[in-house]
Amino acid sequence: MKLSNMHLKTLREVPAEAEISSHILLLRANMIRKLVSGVYGFMPMGNRVLQKIQNIIREEMDAKGAQEILMSAVQPAELWQESGRWTAYGPELWRIKDRHDRDFCLGPTHEEIFTDIARNEINSYRQLPQNLYQIQTKYRDEKRPRFGLIRSREFIMQDSYTFDKDWEGLDESYRQMYDAYSKIFTRCGLTYRAVEADSGAIGGSNSHEFCALSEIGESQIAYCEHCDMAATDERAVCVDEAMPQETELAMEEVYTPDTKSIEDLAAFLGVEEKKTIKALLFAVADSPKYQYVAAFVRGDRELNMIKLANALDVPEHAIDFADEAAMGAETGCVGGFTGPTGLHDCVIVVDSELTKAKNMVAGACKVDHHIKNVNYGRDYKGDIIADLKLIKEGDPCPKCGAPVKMARGIEVGQVFKLGTKYSESMHAYYKDENMEEKPLVMGCYGIGVTRTMSAIVEQHHDDNGIIWPVSVAPYHVIITLVNSKDEVQCALAEEIHDALLAKGMEVILDDRDERAGVKFKDADLLGIPVRITVGKKAGDRIVEYKLRRDEASVDKTAEEAMADAVTFIEANRRG
Ligand code: ATP
Ligand code: MG
Repeated sequence: MKLSNMHLKTLREVPAEAEISSHILLLRANMIRKLVSGVYGFMPMGNRVLQKIQNIIREEMDAKGAQEILMSAVQPAELWQESGRWTAYGPELWRIKDRHDRDFCLGPTHEEIFTDIARNEINSYRQLPQNLYQIQTKYRDEKRPRFGLIRSREFIMQDSYTFDKDWEGLDESYRQMYDAYSKIFTRCGLTYRAVEADSGAIGGSNSHEFCALSEIGESQIAYCEHCDMAATDERAVCVDEAMPQETELAMEEVYTPDTKSIEDLAAFLGVEEKKTIKALLFAVADSPKYQYVAAFVRGDRELNMIKLANALDVPEHAIDFADEAAMGAETGCVGGFTGPTGLHDCVIVVDSELTKAKNMVAGACKVDHHIKNVNYGRDYKGDIIADLKLIKEGDPCPKCGAPVKMARGIEVGQVFKLGTKYSESMHAYYKDENMEEKPLVMGCYGIGVTRTMSAIVEQHHDDNGIIWPVSVAPYHVIITLVNSKDEVQCALAEEIHDALLAKGMEVILDDRDERAGVKFKDADLLGIPVRITVGKKAGDRIVEYKLRRDEASVDKTAEEAMADAVTFIEANRRG
């Protein structure tokens, strides 16, 4: 391919809206193009990368005996109403209407559709197990689309659904998918961790996230260097700290002016923050069970919203911080001075650690006042007691007790044991060996294909541009022709181009009528793994050979350069 014939418009300037390296570089290299917020298109080079990632996914999925299908992005509301998610999914669900005023959505994921296929087309144990997947465009009307392909409103996902007779079958399907995903991310050149993830109401170690390690990642990972514990912070179990078993003292109301924060309160009373109780107040939308919720954790702890949502068994998006004035009138809470003893008409959720903590300081539900010596059981009780804590660096590992470490990651994939949630709500049953009706046991699995593309760039770039791993590079070799008016140089560059093509390499020849500096800058920006520069020494068949990841280039004969390029690419093209 000659660059002079190619659609390519690289940018020197950093685009104003881009904050992170992958977003900046993908835009500058003209790999992606923004249409509106959170909606991107893929230009020729970017599209080639996308195809490579997809091919890796297909190879590994097919190796597991999975079958590719392709479903529509448009999904009828009826299926979502059956599963209960038409209301449960929340505002991210991109709802549309047709001309007859019928409701549809643009699929954010496809559990309903695949369950519908299964209930219509799988009826006997003889047809099981099955693994169906697709690589297809998804829509989520994200609250804050950002970071380019990392959190977009339209994105490409590989989603897979497995159907088994029983949980043992699902365990095996899950293992196979976990293995396939590990291979896929390795082949894409990512450094990642597979970590236990929150799986909502289903619980257990039923889900793992694959996180590409990166400082800009939105997933916080807690892991242990002494054992194999690795989990998202949403999921990681926190150990209750054993507190000294003091005798319970009598409650005492104290005047604590202007001590709305735990820090101020602890300083004012001269106590440790861990001797105080922190209150967090929430309103729950559309719940028949709860309207207001007061959650309590130790003063030095942070509340984990996912754990709270799970404890309440409501979706996370249904919980929001309460309007304290409105809530105060109904429940007795007082902004900055709320404690568990003076509340009524709201659900009290208490972190398990507090149930063993003695003589704590809590808000008095009275302006400028707190109460000393508050004790669980004697002075207040929780409607729900659960681990509500957010793990932090240095906390004891829930498995072995060693101090945990924290890292950031970009969630590029997730695997999930669904069990019978959808097969029961949507009645996807099969007949077993004894002709008995049983619900299909399902797993679902997803890779953010476009997000993966960004994650690769986050991990593989320098100040000058992208450094694609060979397995996903848009082209393998770029031949930089220094002077496109020099016949000798042109002839050698074309010869190398044709010879490499004949050897199955993917090659571009930068034959544009541009200064050499511009061409070098573009080659670095585009991140093609091998550069062969044909310049002044072309008459002697000497060229410059440089790997994108290396600093220095080396003079070689054209023959040597071609042989080395082929060896290098062949060794790395599978990833
Ligand atoms: P997140 O927590 O980042 O919002 P999620 O857990 O809701 O993601 P899943 O439902 O697990 O996402 O979707 C499977 C995969 O799709 C994710 O692992 C991620 O790689 C990708 N993905 C999800 N949302 C987006 C998005 N808005 N833009 C790009 N990729 C996404
Ligand atoms: Mg996920």
